[in-house]
Amino acid sequence: MSNRPNAAQRGYDARWQRIRRRFLRANPICALCPNPSQVPDHYPRSRRELLEQGVTDPDEPQYLRPLCTSCHNKETAKHQPGGWAARPKRKRKPEKHLGLIG
Ligand SMILES: [Zn+2]
Repeated sequence: MSNRPNAAQRGYDARWQRIRRRFLRANPICALCPNPSQVPDHYPRSRRELLEQGVTDPDEPQYLRPLCTSCHNKETAKHQPGGWAARPKRKRKPEKHLGLIG
């Protein structure tokens, strides 16, 4: 294996997997259709918005809603029409994520 994730990434993934499992067990049905939920979605504010607003743990269940993969894909497409390149919004500096993990 040449592309092992670093420790911080592994830590984040493990934490998110735990949150995800617990959240989906507590919220087994998609918020938008009768399918089983598969993805916790940050809603109505994105994870980045929550962090920008000073929320210390944006992965708390209160900031999430359960979605099935199909609804999640639809929602993602709706919020990003044509992808990022299609939106000539003001460019932001890429954010460092390591500081948020430790
Ligand atoms: Zn759905």
